[in-house]
Amino acid sequence: MTKRLSALSGPPANAASHTDLPNTPSQGFLTQLALRVLHASRATFTNTLDFVVPPSCPLCRTMVQMDGGLCGSCWRQVPWIEAPVCNRLGLPLAYDLGPGAVSAEALANPPEFDRLRAVCTHDGVAPRLVHALKFSGQRHLAESLGAMMARAGRALLLEADTVLVPVPLHPWRQLHRRYNQSALLARAIGATTGAPVLYDGVKRVKRTRQQLSLSRGDRLRNVRGAFKLTPKARAALAEKRVVMVDDVHTTGATLNALALTLRSQDSSMRPKHVDALVFSTAVVQESISTI
Ligand SMILES: [Zn+2]
Repeated sequence: MTKRLSALSGPPANAASHTDLPNTPSQGFLTQLALRVLHASRATFTNTLDFVVPPSCPLCRTMVQMDGGLCGSCWRQVPWIEAPVCNRLGLPLAYDLGPGAVSAEALANPPEFDRLRAVCTHDGVAPRLVHALKFSGQRHLAESLGAMMARAGRALLLEADTVLVPVPLHPWRQLHRRYNQSALLARAIGATTGAPVLYDGVKRVKRTRQQLSLSRGDRLRNVRGAFKLTPKARAALAEKRVVMVDDVHTTGATLNALALTLRSQDSSMRPKHVDALVFSTAVVQESISTI
């Protein structure tokens, strides 16, 4: 694998870097300063705890050797995806029909991106791991999950002109959560593979509802027009192999909307490939058959 040591922009130093905070007239300087002090205090407290308390499994609290690592029992409950997989959606296939085989789901509903790869299906302990990363503040999980994603997505990360693009959160949601889990995963994948990460190439300009409770049609409507490329991205992504990074793939509404945005430029400025790398992906039962 070709090593790429340069980064298109520096990784966020903490959960809410200066680029993460919305800069609106209603938010004064003192408010932003107070938020940064609060976040810095929390980070220091967390680091101190890590030093005092030995690492434990994020799911069952059994002591483990590495921070963010799973114990043997939980590890065996991860529904790993292994070859053969659908070349478009990364779904497990029942039979090996050789490279390029695609699932019935990919033929029935072709995605806007070229290929997707995932570590596991969104079953078993996978939803709990994603929930722990996103909603329980266990951001250190991103390192181990990101390392797993780098392995699962190695076919997407071989070339030197690959750029990782994390799916952005709306600024207000990021302010509430204090970090973007996709950016943390992309940073971990970049650290493992050397692929550069473009952190602020895409903005989420529409505040969408949480996707979890929505139907497929509602999800598509929910994310339409949600993303906007920054001027920086237009030059940085031209003719590159873009790998979008997210935690979960369900109906594909979010990744499809982002892929369409990435491909919305003039032909000379478009990425030559747009792939997706996620931790877990929902399996559509009909897709197990190959075509
Ligand atoms: Zn465990």
